[in-house]
Amino acid sequence: MSKTYKIAVLKGDGIGPEVTEAAVNVLQAVQDTSDLKLTFLYGEAGYHCIAEHGTNLPEETITLLKQTNACLKGPMTTPETPGAPVSAAVKIRKTFNLYANVRPCHTYPNVEALKPDIDLVVVRENTEGMYSGIEYEVSPGEAVALRIITKKASLLVAEHAFKLAEKRRKHLTYVHKANILRITDGIFNDAVKAAAKNHPDVTVDDVHIDAMAMHLIKKPETYDVIVTTNLFGDVISDEAAQVTGSLGLAAGANIGDTYGMFEPVHGSAPKYTGQNRVNPTATVIAAQMMLDYLGEKAEVTKIENAVIQVLNEGKVRTKDLGGSSTTSEMSDAIASKVKAL
Ligand code: NAD
Repeated sequence: MSKTYKIAVLKGDGIGPEVTEAAVNVLQAVQDTSDLKLTFLYGEAGYHCIAEHGTNLPEETITLLKQTNACLKGPMTTPETPGAPVSAAVKIRKTFNLYANVRPCHTYPNVEALKPDIDLVVVRENTEGMYSGIEYEVSPGEAVALRIITKKASLLVAEHAFKLAEKRRKHLTYVHKANILRITDGIFNDAVKAAAKNHPDVTVDDVHIDAMAMHLIKKPETYDVIVTTNLFGDVISDEAAQVTGSLGLAAGANIGDTYGMFEPVHGSAPKYTGQNRVNPTATVIAAQMMLDYLGEKAEVTKIENAVIQVLNEGKVRTKDLGGSSTTSEMSDAIASKVKAL
């Protein structure tokens, strides 16, 4: 009997529609070669729908997400003017309590990286911290942003990170700045230490965020699972992605207890919109992580192997990887490998 899933697809802005369609193309190939039945339900979200809907995340889209098993999301442009709608990604994470943002970064064959043999995962708290969205001007020229840290959210993300570490090399590093942010990072660190008691087989250490920025350049191969608060995790996961090759290869899963949203780590790169030149692999890997979340391990392996084979052969490579192939050529190459596997 075929397994059926409803997948919400939010194409996003800028390069979003191109990379999202590229990933759907690969998912179609998975579908053609398996008993999986994926129904893609397209929703509106992002900067482009503010003019029409007055928001970047219309209510109909939230209703649509609630009817699906998971969401594949393209990158979205976030306006920077005060009072503009907050990031649609942040709203979805909060609405569905997607507390863990899981961002794997590892070296690929034939892709230039700063160091060989890097295989780490950044697990970022996804619902609070510096992304609370609470920011106000106290008086002209003086403003405050609230960095909210709770024991509840810290425990949820810490537990998720420990479970992941148990399936990997059993090493967890928590990253903080408790020497300065004593109360907020004190709560976060205490939660990690409390969760550690449930996972005695995992080796635990900690690093300050500023030192971590340096260590990720100097010795990234020594890390396994890194757990940290929202802003720190956003920054170091971009850094780790570039250290392992390209932002065009980095994907993230936003996981909660009842829903998952999957997206590339990169943004909407507006200057490349419509040029069919960016790397779609990050969004393809996001789709792969979505199948993993849905429990479709055999199909995960198919996409994983297809990506590795395309990169290893090196015949089809986008500009960020030193080649001249287009977004659609890269997507078609991965889809063909999926069909051949
Ligand atoms: P960006 O990630 O969009 O682009 C930075 C640079 O990275 C690009 O100029 C390009 O050189 C490279 N790059 C990004 N994606 C690539 C790909 N697939 N292939 C090859 N190279 C790639 O970051 P930005 O310029 O800081 O942000 C642009 C917009 O995206 C902003 O509005 C920002 O708020 C938004 N953003 C959205 C998300 C999200 O939706 N989750 C995440 C990050 C940024």
